[in-house]
Amino acid sequence: MKPYKNKINRIRTFALALIFIGIVIMYVGIYFRNQPVVMVIFMLLGVVAIVGSTGVYAWIGLLSMKTVPVECPNCGRHTKMLGRVDICMHCNEPLTMDPALEGKEFNQDYNKKNSKI
Ligand SMILES: [Zn+2]
Repeated sequence: MKPYKNKINRIRTFALALIFIGIVIMYVGIYFRNQPVVMVIFMLLGVVAIVGSTGVYAWIGLLSMKTVPVECPNCGRHTKMLGRVDICMHCNEPLTMDPALEGKEFNQDYNKKNSKI
């Protein structure tokens, strides 16, 4: 069984990872102090990664407007849903907006098939 995660949380984790990757790239650049050209390239790549993560954060902001706040039937806490099926942010309970999918095994593909209407 694949460990599914809430979509918003997953994107947020990705954005955070991108910041760390950017910092690591810049850190590596410091080792090339004797070769300024290489150092500048690493620094630029690091900046690109961090700017990219800022973009991802902005994207989360846009996506958040499309999410549906629901109360999780399993843990009773409020979570944000994206698409027809998603996972609770707090307890990883699969949630669905579509009654036809209720009780079925969670499948990420449900979001893709009917999203192009
Ligand atoms: Zn829950």
